[in-house]
Amino acid sequence: MTGTGTFNQYTQPELMQHYDHRPLDKQVALVTGANSGIGEGVARHMAAAGAMTLINCVTHPEAADAIVADIRQAGGQAMSIMADVSKEDQVQAMFAQIVKEHGTVDILVNNAGWQKDAAFPEMTLQQWQAVIDVNLTGQFLCAREAVREFLRRGPRPEVSVALGKIICMSSVHQVIPWGGHVNYASSKGGIKLMMESIAQEMAPQKIRCNAIAPGAIKTPINHAAWATPDAEKDLLTLIPYGRVGVAQDIARAAIWLASDESDYLTGTTMFVDGGMTLYPGFSQGG
Ligand code: NAD
Repeated sequence: MTGTGTFNQYTQPELMQHYDHRPLDKQVALVTGANSGIGEGVARHMAAAGAMTLINCVTHPEAADAIVADIRQAGGQAMSIMADVSKEDQVQAMFAQIVKEHGTVDILVNNAGWQKDAAFPEMTLQQWQAVIDVNLTGQFLCAREAVREFLRRGPRPEVSVALGKIICMSSVHQVIPWGGHVNYASSKGGIKLMMESIAQEMAPQKIRCNAIAPGAIKTPINHAAWATPDAEKDLLTLIPYGRVGVAQDIARAAIWLASDESDYLTGTTMFVDGGMTLYPGFSQGG
């Protein structure tokens, strides 16, 4: 496998076989921050499920291009597209390019995100703002452009019951406070109510908006937390299910949320976390 596919268990040809019923056939999917980690996994699954998949990145276009090449070689459709999701002009240009080249967009996976960790007394305004700008404002900007396009384009009953689908990558830290990461937890808490409010407002137009809250998933963002056996052992004390997640765990949930199989679902967060939010510290009594 090329690209940064370390975090995916299946090769692209195996994925194509897995989704041979192509639940997202003839749809256009944009996945932000898709040249790495969870976004890469989601993009690979979207393409295997039949979607023309746009792989957004802001750095390392060569990684995005390698994933595109791998998808195409396996018979899927994909293209890379660069934009910084925190910049309004770049997000608008990205959507304009997608509509021009692919006609519309049906599925948005708001995945791009990062961390700028610091102890709270030392956290700079720059560290706070950088995380809010990408993790929260970036999701707002992309969701707004996607909704505008869904409304402009109108229904396509031949591809989906819904006018459009938005999936916001949140985190267990939308509910679990996280010392040393106040900016990150605040951005994810913000995503929860942004997603729910969009879902409430846009449901009459048949636009569905949901979130996935991953637990600990092996990607570059949290490399230090699982890279050594000792670190992984510590991490596992937080995960009742007894394993650290992989991008594929999140990607499978994303395919379901993007497909008509989940048509009556909107405004919901799916916690894909091996039970991390089940207060594992209480498993032997309080
Ligand atoms: P990652 O670092 O592998 O991927 C993040 C991606 O976002 C990268 O491709 C990065 O280049 C991109 N990105 C950052 N800033 C961007 C910008 N301004 N414009 C466009 N792209 C940008 O990490 P990941 O773990 O795959 O993270 C993906 C999402 O999942 C993030 O929103 C993260 O908060 C969330 N998440 C991850 C975990 C985990 O355990 N890995 C847990 C919960 C939530």
